[in-house]
Amino acid sequence: MRQIFILLAVIFVVLSPVRAATPADSVIWGGPIYSGGESGRPVAALAIRDGRFVAMGSRSKIKRLVGPQTRIVELRGSAAFPGFTDGHAHLHGIGARELELNLEGTASVVDLRARVSAWATQHQDPVLIGRGWIETHWPEGRMPDATDLDPIAPGRPMLLVRADGHALVANSAALRQAGITAATADPPGGRLIRTEEGSPNGILIDRAMDLVAGLLPAQTPQRASLALDKALEVYPALGWTGVHNMSVDWLDVTLLEARAAQSPLPLRIYNAVTPQASTNLFASGKRFSLDGRVVTRGVKLYADGALGSRGAALFAPYSDSPETSGLILLTEQDRAIMRQAKEQGLQIAVHAIGDRANALVLTAFEELLGCGPTAALGTNPSACRAHRWRIEHAQILRPADISRFAADGVIASMQPSHAISDLYFAPSRLGEGRIDGAYAWKSLVQSGAIVVGGSDAPVERGAALIEFYAAIARTDLKGASGPDWRPGERLSRREALNLFTLAPAYASFQEDDLGSIAIGKRADVSVFSVDLMRAKPAEILQGHAVLTMVGGKVAYRAKGW
Ligand SMILES: [Zn+2]
Repeated sequence: MRQIFILLAVIFVVLSPVRAATPADSVIWGGPIYSGGESGRPVAALAIRDGRFVAMGSRSKIKRLVGPQTRIVELRGSAAFPGFTDGHAHLHGIGARELELNLEGTASVVDLRARVSAWATQHQDPVLIGRGWIETHWPEGRMPDATDLDPIAPGRPMLLVRADGHALVANSAALRQAGITAATADPPGGRLIRTEEGSPNGILIDRAMDLVAGLLPAQTPQRASLALDKALEVYPALGWTGVHNMSVDWLDVTLLEARAAQSPLPLRIYNAVTPQASTNLFASGKRFSLDGRVVTRGVKLYADGALGSRGAALFAPYSDSPETSGLILLTEQDRAIMRQAKEQGLQIAVHAIGDRANALVLTAFEELLGCGPTAALGTNPSACRAHRWRIEHAQILRPADISRFAADGVIASMQPSHAISDLYFAPSRLGEGRIDGAYAWKSLVQSGAIVVGGSDAPVERGAALIEFYAAIARTDLKGASGPDWRPGERLSRREALNLFTLAPAYASFQEDDLGSIAIGKRADVSVFSVDLMRAKPAEILQGHAVLTMVGGKVAYRAKGW
């Protein structure tokens, strides 16, 4: 018997070079290939078979795996990385942005009017919807109002949502159709900005936006499906192979699963559903599409609002608005959802921007999962860690709370581009002292916390290169920074790469399969025209995604490539 084993072992050893020489489906070479994870040094060549990485190393080593059917991907100097995953975005909104008037990059009120007017003549939808303006750098130094819009297309309602989704400007026709007059009171959690005479000027903040909700086109499966198709088309082109899709309603979950059943999606999608859809998720348990590209196992909750509109919950009042310190939105019902999620092994992801909201969520997690200083009977960090619960944004932290993330195993899911957008107004909202714990991703990484990077698109553009740049440069897109921008919170390039690769893989329970280029892992690759590990920050912004592969198949290829 023993001899037979030895004989089999010998045969195996003799044959194994032949086995290893089974041709690859694809090989990649011709530029630096960064494997991510622990290794910082690039390799020269990579081989893929059956959707997974099978070999990496020198070009001559990989050449032996080239057969007649092998596809050769010549990088021509471009740089390859493990597939980039956007750790927090909204696919539906990304698609909707393409179907409606996209106002990103609008430079002034004058520019806004020009864009709206061009769109209005080309599109005849009964209500004109736009999204993406932000007035923080406009020369006029103010938000647009109804009087700016009224002359463009009189009588046709217009709703233009601010980039952060926490305010919109309506024209007079929209206000009229929604029945908003000088007599309309501010709803709870919302505000109508008014003229000196007291009539609404068209700007609706937070819950006041609900007053015009009736003018929005109804959400039909056809519209939702159109938006998702559009998102699946544009998002790979921005350099991503995966996305953590936040606040997803049940219709979108079923549409994405149905689409995945038809043909492989060009993106891996990890869904965290809305509180409303949590009932459906609790009924079905964790969900995996047939090809594993759509995973649904999270519920997204809200602990507070946003900093721009002073809805973020702070311990002390806003420095530029001492009468308010924001609003806690977490309810008893949300806590019940957390308990149920714990029971069923589902992930909780809570939006928390302000320091008070973050502390509250950390405490809630500790109490419920049984760890940290607030746990009744000693701490049990590994029990907490196993759940991999997350705080979305983790934007403003009391310095003392930073270490709780690592201690409790709570994942911080942060958006580098928010810092370079918000740092124009965050110092005035927060005052000097509180900036110390704001957008503090380096402090979190150094404390041992898992930090996931994402864009929150459509709030931001959602470009992999912009997020990477913001994480390492912490300057705006022109390279400028203010005195309060805490350059010490810049990440190293290795750390930044981790934010978009291994960390999101871990945060979606898929680190054994995704997140680095390693033998046996799924072959997800993002290729950029610039070498992110070496290029000057400004050059990174000049670059673009040239190719993405998901499961070894090309998901996106730039024109002329
Ligand atoms: Zn978001």
